Amino acid sequence: MSRVALVTGGNRGIGLAVARRLAADGMKVAVTYRSDPPSDLFAVQCDVRDPESVHHAVNEVEQTLGGIDVLVANSGITRDRAFAVMSEPDFAAVMDTNLMGAYRVTRAVVREMMRKREGRIVFVSSVAGLTGSVGQANYASSKAGMIGLARSLALELSPYGVTVNTVAPGWVDTDMTVRLPEKVKEGITSQVPLGRQGSAEEIAEVVGFLASEGSSYVTGAVLPVDGGLSLGA
Ligand code: NDP
Repeated sequence: MSRVALVTGGNRGIGLAVARRLAADGMKVAVTYRSDPPSDLFAVQCDVRDPESVHHAVNEVEQTLGGIDVLVANSGITRDRAFAVMSEPDFAAVMDTNLMGAYRVTRAVVREMMRKREGRIVFVSSVAGLTGSVGQANYASSKAGMIGLARSLALELSPYGVTVNTVAPGWVDTDMTVRLPEKVKEGITSQVPLGRQGSAEEIAEVVGFLASEGSSYVTGAVLPVDGGLSLGA
C-alpha cells in the first residue's frame, strides 16, 4: 500500500521539489496551494492561516487518497524589516503563517497518525531559527518556534510511533530569495562554506529521507541543510 503524504505549500519552490521527490518514492502525494496549483500533482486549496481551510483541505485529502501518513509543513513567508521599524502586523503575519500554520496542519492530521500508531511529520524551518538573522526577527522567531514545537511533539508522539523532525534549510534558490538585490545575494553566498546557493531538490532529498521508512529511529532531530552556513565560519 502506498503511503499518503501531504505537503503544504507544495505548489512551488521547496515544497514542490519535496512533493515530486515523495511521489518518485512511490507515495500518493497531495499538495496545498492558494491560487496556483501544479498540473502534475493532486492539489487542494488551503490557506494555513485559516483553521477552517486547513480542516477542509485535510478532509479532502483523506477522502480522496486515504489517511495521511506523512505531513511536510513547508508553507512559509518572509516580511523582512529592521526590528525598530517592524510593525506588529508584519510580525504577526509571519508568526501566523509559519508557526501557527505548522501548528494547524499538524493538529489536523495528528489524531489519525496516533490512531494508526505510525506517521512522519517533517517541519521546514530555517537556519535563521538557529542562528538569528538581521532584518528577520519575525521570521527567525517563527522558525525557532517551529523547532520547539517539533521537539515537543517528538516527545509526545514517540509512544504512538509518530516521528517529528525538522530541516533547517540555509540559502536556497526559490521565489523567496530570487528578488533580493544582487549585492545581498553575493554577500550571503560568500558566507556559505560550500560557496553556493542550494537547490530546492537538495532540500527535498533530506526531507525525503526523514519521510521515509528508513528514518524510523530518528525523531526530534534538527537537520541543517545549508552548505555549512550555520557553522558561522
Ligand atoms: P516560496 O516563496 O517559493 O514558497 C512558499 C510556499 O508557501 C508557497 O507554496 C506558498 O503558496 C506557501 N504559502 C505561503 N503562505 C501560505 C499560506 N498562508 N497558506 C498556505 N500556503 C502558503 O518559498 P520556498 O520554497 O523557498 O520556501 C518553502 C519553505 O522553506 C518556507 O517555509 C521557507 O521559510 C523555508 N525556507 C526557505 C529558504 C530559502 O532560502 N528559500 C531558506 C530556509 C527556509 P502560494 O503559492 O499560495 O503563495
